[in-house]
Amino acid sequence: MAGRIEEIAETVEGAWLDELRADLRGAALTPGDSGYDEARALWNGMIDRHPAVIVHVESTDDVVAALRFARERGLVVTTRGGGHGAAGNALSEGGLVVDLSRLREIAVDPVARTVRAGGGVTLGELDAATQEHGLATPLGVVTKTGIAGLTLSGGIGWLRRKHGLAADNLVSLEIVTADGSVLTASADENAEVFWALRGGGGSFGVVTALEYRLHPVGPDVTVAFVLYPGERGAEVLRAVDEYTASAPDDVSPIAFLGRVPHGDPFPVGAHGLPYAAVAAVHPGDPAEGEAVLRPLRELGNPIVDLSGVMPWVEAQGILDEDYPDGWRYYWKSVDLDELGDNALARLAAHAAAAPSHHSTIDVWYHGGAMTRVGAEETAFGRRSAYLIGVEANWEPGDPDDENVAWARAAVEDLRELSGGGAYLNFPGFFEEGEELLRASYGERNYERLVAVKTVLDPSNVFGGDGTIKALRA
Ligand SMILES: Cc1cc2nc3c(=O)[nH]c(=O)nc-3n(C[C@H](O)[C@H](O)[C@H](O)COP(=O)(O)OP(=O)(O)OC[C@H]3O[C@@H](n4cnc5c(N)ncnc54)[C@H](O)[C@@H]3O)c2cc1C
Repeated sequence: MAGRIEEIAETVEGAWLDELRADLRGAALTPGDSGYDEARALWNGMIDRHPAVIVHVESTDDVVAALRFARERGLVVTTRGGGHGAAGNALSEGGLVVDLSRLREIAVDPVARTVRAGGGVTLGELDAATQEHGLATPLGVVTKTGIAGLTLSGGIGWLRRKHGLAADNLVSLEIVTADGSVLTASADENAEVFWALRGGGGSFGVVTALEYRLHPVGPDVTVAFVLYPGERGAEVLRAVDEYTASAPDDVSPIAFLGRVPHGDPFPVGAHGLPYAAVAAVHPGDPAEGEAVLRPLRELGNPIVDLSGVMPWVEAQGILDEDYPDGWRYYWKSVDLDELGDNALARLAAHAAAAPSHHSTIDVWYHGGAMTRVGAEETAFGRRSAYLIGVEANWEPGDPDDENVAWARAAVEDLRELSGGGAYLNFPGFFEEGEELLRASYGERNYERLVAVKTVLDPSNVFGGDGTIKALRA
C-alpha cells in the first residue's frame, strides 16, 4: 500500500499544489500530511480510500479553486458533506475531495419560514438552529448525517408523510459546477438544475448551500418506540401497516426487525433475543400525539416501551447510538408497492438469518405528502408505498464477507417482489451501476438527469461510483 500512496502523492506534488494552496482560504491535505488520515476517515469503517488531495474549503471561492486544480490535473472529484454516505463515495482512490465540513453556516428566517445552510451542516445542527424558532424541515432520523448528501438523494425521516422528503422542501441551492460556474437553482432560476438536484444525487457539482422551507414542529413532540417479541414479527409489521393506512399524515412509522441490544435500557433477560420494533414521532400537541400514537403501543406485551414526550432535537437522536463511527456497514434497499403475506414471511426469515446481532431489516411506511408529489415533478421518481432497508451492521473484527453476503441475499430475494427500484441513499456499494440508477429514478427521469449532467459536467469530472454519467460526444 505504501507504494500506491506515494504514487497518488506524486499526482499532485510540487508547484501545482503550492498554487492551489495559495488560492485557498481553507487547506489542502495530501498523503503524508498530518491530519490526512483523520480527514479521509468516514463513518463507514469499510471505506479505506486514499484521495490524492483533500481540500477543506471555507468558501464558494475555495470550491472554484479546487475544481480548477482538479480539471488541470485530470482528477476525479468527489464531495464530502457530512461523511455519512453509506457507500463511502465521498472519497475516491487517487481523486480530489472537496470536503465541506467547514461550511457550517446556518441562517434562519423565522418570518419567511426558511433556513439557508452550508453544505457541511449536519442534521442535528440544522434542527438545533431551526428549533430555536419552533420550526423544522423534514430530514432523516440520525443527527450526525449530513444534510447535503441526504437531501440530494431524497431524504426520508419522521416528517415524510406530513411534509414530504427533505428534497421536496428545498427552496433553492447554490452549486458550483465542473467548469467553476456558481449557479443558483430554484423554481425560477436554472429550473432544470433545481429539478435534478431534488433527488438526483451528487453528480452535478458541489452544492455549497441549501435553502429549505420550515414548518412548525414541537418543541416537544411525542415519540412511540416499542419493542415486541421477534416471533411476532410478521404480525407486528402487518398491524403497523393497518394502523398507517388510517393514521393522520402527522405520523410516519418505521418498523425494525432486529435483536435486542445488550445494555440499558433493555431488560437483561431479553438481550440478544429477536425483536419487532415500531417507532414514530408525532410533531404536534403532545396530548394529541399521545392519543394518535397509542395504538402502536398496544400491539401486545412489549419487551420494552421507550415511548415518551421529549424535545424534537432529542427525538431526532433516539437512534444515534445504534450507528457508531468506524463500525462496518453495508446497507441496501428495495422499494415495495405491497406488503403481503409473502413479503412479511420473507422479511421475518431474512431478519432471523442475520449473522450480526446489530443488523436490522427496516420497513419505512410511506404515503402521505411524500407520495402526493408526482414521479416526474422532481428527480426522485419512485415514490413507492414501502421502503425496505436491509442494514448489515457489524463490529470491526467480525467477518465482512458473511455480513455483506447476508444483505445481498436478502435484497436479491426481496427484489422478486419489487419493481426493481431502491433508495439511492441506501445503495450498497452501487454494484448494479447504471441498472440500479435507471430502476430507481425511472427511465424518463434517468434520461433527463443524463441530459442535465451532459450540460453541467460533460467530461464527468464528478465521475465517482453511483454518479450519473454524461453522454460523451
Ligand atoms: C447513521 C445513518 C443514518 C441515516 N439515516 C437516514 C435517514 O433517516 N433518512 C435518509 O434519507 N437517509 C439516511 N441515511 C443515508 C444518508 O442520507 C446518506 O448516507 C447520505 O449520503 C449522507 O450524506 P452525507 O453528506 O453525510 O454523506 P457524504 O458521505 O459526505 O456524501 C455522500 C454523497 O453525497 C453527495 N454529496 C454530499 N454532500 C454534497 C454536496 N454538498 N454537494 C454535492 N454532493 C454532495 C456526494 O455524492 C457524496 O458522495 C443515513 C445514513 C447514516 C450513515
